Amino acid sequence: MESNQWTQLRQEILSCQKCRLAESRTQAVPGVGPLETRLVIIGEAPGRQEDLQGEPFVGAAGKLLTKLLEEVGIKRATVFITNIVKCRPPENRQPLADERKACNSYLCRQVELIQPKLIALVGRVPAETILEPPIRMGAMHGKIFERNGRKYFLMYHPAAGLYNQDLIPEMEEDMRKLKRLLDSSEVTELGPEKGQRDLSRFLEKD
Ligand code: URA
Ligand code: SF4
Repeated sequence: MESNQWTQLRQEILSCQKCRLAESRTQAVPGVGPLETRLVIIGEAPGRQEDLQGEPFVGAAGKLLTKLLEEVGIKRATVFITNIVKCRPPENRQPLADERKACNSYLCRQVELIQPKLIALVGRVPAETILEPPIRMGAMHGKIFERNGRKYFLMYHPAAGLYNQDLIPEMEEDMRKLKRLLDSSEVTELGPEKGQRDLSRFLEKD
C-alpha cells in the first residue's frame, strides 16, 4: 500500500544529491515493505547487490536475515526494511558521520510515516547512529532501548553470522525474542524509565 507521502519521499531519495555517496552509487535504495507494519528493520547501508537491485538486504547477508526472520514466522514481505544511509559507500566502507547526518531526515520521515511498534537496529552502525555510544554488541544485543518515545531492539548484523557461524544460535534466539515482543503487549508496557534503566546499566560498566 503506497501513500502519497511515501511516493514523494521515495522520489526525493532516488534523486538525492545531499552527500558524496550520490557520486558513486548505481541507484539509491530507499527501502521496501508495507507502511502498515509493526516492525521496521534498519541496517547500515546498501552493499553491492543492493546498489545493483535497488532493494535492501538482498545479498548474502540479506538472505541470512530473511531466513532468520522467516524461521520465527516473520514474513519478510510484512516488514519495512531500510538502512541508515540509502546509497552504497564505495568498497562497502562504513558510512561517515556527515553522510549519516545528511541522510538522517529520510529515515526520520520513514519512521514518522510508519509509526512501528518496534524498530530493529541491525548491527553496530545503526546502533551507534541512533542510540548513544558506547555500543557493546555482546552485551546489548537482544535488548530493547527507548529513545524519544521509540523502541529499538538491538541485533547482530547478519554479516557477523556469515563470518562466524557460532553466532547463529544467539541470532536465532534474538529473532525469537523479537517475534515474541512484536506479538505481545510487553512492548507497549515498557515505559521510558525501564528503557533508560537498561541503558544506564550498560553505561556504568567499562
Ligand atoms: N547490509 C546492510 O546493512 N544493509 C543492506 O541493505 C545490505 C547489507
Ligand atoms: Fe542522499 Fe542519503 Fe544518498 Fe547521501 S546517502 S546521497 S544523503 S540519499
